[in-house]
Amino acid sequence: MDISGKRMVENLKAIDYVRLSGTEGEEKAANFIAGKIKELGAEPVIETFDVPFYTIEKVKLEALKPFNKEYEATGYGFSGNAAKDGIEAELKYLESFDDLSLQNIQGKIVLFVGGVNAQTFEKLIKAGAVGFIGVCGHYLDKKGTFDLEERMLREQQIVNGVIPGVCIHVNDAVAIVDKGVKKVRLTLSQNETTAKSRNVTTFVTGTKFPDEIISVTAHYDSVVFSHGMFDNGSGTVNNLEMLRYYLKNPPRRSLRFVFCGSEERGIYGSRNFVEQHEEEIKKTRLCCNVDMTGPVLGKDIVRITGEDKIIHAIDYYAKVHGHVATVYQDTYPSDGMPFAWKGVPAVNFYRQAAAGTTQIHCRHDTLSRITAKSLESTGKFIVEVMNTIINADSFPFERKIPDNMVEKTNGMLKNMPGYKTDGEDKDKQQKKQVS
Ligand SMILES: [Zn+2]
Repeated sequence: MDISGKRMVENLKAIDYVRLSGTEGEEKAANFIAGKIKELGAEPVIETFDVPFYTIEKVKLEALKPFNKEYEATGYGFSGNAAKDGIEAELKYLESFDDLSLQNIQGKIVLFVGGVNAQTFEKLIKAGAVGFIGVCGHYLDKKGTFDLEERMLREQQIVNGVIPGVCIHVNDAVAIVDKGVKKVRLTLSQNETTAKSRNVTTFVTGTKFPDEIISVTAHYDSVVFSHGMFDNGSGTVNNLEMLRYYLKNPPRRSLRFVFCGSEERGIYGSRNFVEQHEEEIKKTRLCCNVDMTGPVLGKDIVRITGEDKIIHAIDYYAKVHGHVATVYQDTYPSDGMPFAWKGVPAVNFYRQAAAGTTQIHCRHDTLSRITAKSLESTGKFIVEVMNTIINADSFPFERKIPDNMVEKTNGMLKNMPGYKTDGEDKDKQQKKQVS
């Protein structure tokens, strides 16, 4: 089978830079993918859409009592602005978000370990906190070998209001609490706007069943500081290699390749695609999403948001053909989700890296952590499995999502920007009827 890990690595080298949503890096990668599609002999289409975008202009965290000290901090995107010269307030360390911890935080700046979700952020707002300090990193981090995370609040977190926040290193957080810092000044100034992001797509018409479509997706954006070679340059080049293969070996069913932008910011690209192509989605029978392949040590996983039949079939295929893979039913928070939301089963392929062998979402997600051999092994498996479906005499699965997966998909989407589920619509209608 002509699937080449070497070619994949060559393509990875061409997108070995930060491809953050809404930035020049992302646009440059989109143009590279479009050029590659053309070179392979297909017609690329670039579809643009808006994404939320922020620029931090000023961020500062200072202890004021019992001593003066400034700490390195990053600003939370979309957490608003903290008065021109900063907010001065008492500091309270929150061990938890339970009622007891939330007592007496009115007017205070709170420090907590980890992140916030929609529910915990709402609690902070209701309890009257005026600012927050999140914590990232590991106590073994050495200066110059890590970046403080740049976090952001998502749309669903700020529906009940917003307070400014910063993120500091865990070692500073330990010192602040241990030394009993009582008063801090938090300064944050940011510009909140929107930017352009892009999906790059192409279509390969099926030779026998052109109206039965299978989507092949992968996100090509990365996060700040990360060159995203594993997450998800690898899936991107895997799918370019798949496109090359299917242009040479015409598929019996149609394939829609979507290279998605802005997955890392909230799966915007894939959602935009399913919303913009409703008629095509009705004809789409399955989504094949590839998100992270290539580490030497690890295991291939196929996580399927679909009925048991698909799980059994792929598990059977892997075993019969001697490819070690863990196949199971679940949702996967990536580009397959919007497809599942629209009723299209999603098969997510990835290679779970062995602990300690690579990292994602930071400067350490580099080309050195993945190999051509590993990319090729998983890549061949994906094409072999997909061939059985793409070229089947009769489509082996129904286009449906079982109830347990509908529930789980909706549960996850609740926490993502802009999704409405059927259930929510019904809820709202019922509420309307009541009122
Ligand atoms: Zn990813």
